[in-house]
Amino acid sequence: MTENILENISSLGIPPHVTLIAVSKTKSVSAIMEAYDSGQRDFGENYIQEAIEKIDTLKDVEDIRWHFIGHLQSNKAKLAAKYFYMVQSLDSISTAEKLDKECKKLGKTLPVLIEINIGGEEQKSGILVENLDNFISEMKPFENLELMGIMCIPPTDKDPKVFFRKMKEIQDRYSFSILSMGMSSDFKEAIECGSNMVRIGTRIFGSRN
Ligand SMILES: *Cc1c(COP(=O)(O)O)cnc(C)c1O
Repeated sequence: MTENILENISSLGIPPHVTLIAVSKTKSVSAIMEAYDSGQRDFGENYIQEAIEKIDTLKDVEDIRWHFIGHLQSNKAKLAAKYFYMVQSLDSISTAEKLDKECKKLGKTLPVLIEINIGGEEQKSGILVENLDNFISEMKPFENLELMGIMCIPPTDKDPKVFFRKMKEIQDRYSFSILSMGMSSDFKEAIECGSNMVRIGTRIFGSRN
């Protein structure tokens, strides 16, 4: 079945104060352009290599913004710094250090979000809440990174609102401007809890294989 991307986006009913990131991982350049032509400008990608191919193909498309939302290995920091508008999944100081260094070389400032492991899940990446203060202090020297906020993926088997509320408290505590949370299955709850950036793939582009 072909997706009606324009219809899918408008049916989400995202309020104007919330930024919609269309998560286009595994999806084609033509699907991305269909979303773009309907007015969508922010796109999220998880895999550096896959993303770079699309970004290169679409490099002349005006105002398009690429957000890196996948796990970032420090050996990919150079590419992330070069190709992305924002990195939402910062989860280690060594990666932050490399990103900062690469941004310095490029003469750019990169907006970043810290990924929070809000459920304290063992296998998941992200900073534990109890380590956040420390992490933020360690980021202070990185002048070419602009810490804008936090993002999370809540545990799949529990009520996400519990975790979204914790995220909102953290945002308020540090006065962060961006709170990135909410995906296809839980974006309404996320927005109710104060999210101002949602990352939606399936509900826009259809399911991934
Ligand atoms: C894949 C992904 C999404 C989008 O998930 P959907 O359920 O398809 O909306 C959002 N955020 C991150 C970090 C992802 O990896």
